[in-house]
Amino acid sequence: MITGKNIQKRFGTVQVLKNVDITIRKGEVVAIVGPSGSGKSTLLHILGTLDKPDSGSVEMNSTTLTGLSPKKLAQFRNKHIGFVFQFHHLLPEFSALENVCIPGWLAGTKKAAVEARAKELLQMLGLSHRLENKPNQLSGGEQQRVAVARALINNPDIVFADEPTGNLDSANAQDLHDLFFDLRKKFNQTFLIVTHNEELAKQSDRVLHMRDGAIVEN
Ligand code: ADP
Ligand code: MG
Repeated sequence: MITGKNIQKRFGTVQVLKNVDITIRKGEVVAIVGPSGSGKSTLLHILGTLDKPDSGSVEMNSTTLTGLSPKKLAQFRNKHIGFVFQFHHLLPEFSALENVCIPGWLAGTKKAAVEARAKELLQMLGLSHRLENKPNQLSGGEQQRVAVARALINNPDIVFADEPTGNLDSANAQDLHDLFFDLRKKFNQTFLIVTHNEELAKQSDRVLHMRDGAIVEN
């Protein structure tokens, strides 16, 4: 599904990623754990094409992403990659349904088809009664589920989640984990999840431990 080879990244004088090699297979739920500052987010951003490595390559479904122009990258990202962050980053002036639809509209999919899929996803995530609500009218757990639906709208090959439960209480965190595993079961959806949550890490197929810019245990 996705392979990073020899990834190096430096910010100023700090070598944040040191020769990282990583492979994620289709349908895997992989957790990344490690201390704050160890390079987890930086690695996720580089694999997800939100940032560029200084050297090394990222390949996804046999497309080499590291050479693409910014425009091509943006198109690829919107179509093939979903993101969920610690803070939901929903657009406050749009409804839950619209927030989920927007990446689908940007991808140029027919409006009605996008809306139908968005409704289906939101229903699956237990949010059918929340379609018209704005983000500030939703609970934290609901906001995160809307963000997950948005990440899935274009049927991405992989979803990157960076501490998705970092802002949730433990019951909502567990619900979100269950949702990830449901989605894997239903759609063979692939996930790479940075987490401090030991339960989630335990339930994952694999856990990558990062320290000082390197994967020290797989
Ligand atoms: P983690 O997600 O594991 O907490 P990060 O990948 O966010 O770690 O950060 C790794 C290191 O890189 C930290 O020392 C952080 O301060 C530094 N860093 C991250 N992003 C930037 C940036 N845009 N500019 C400068 N330094 C950064
Ligand atoms: Mg981080």
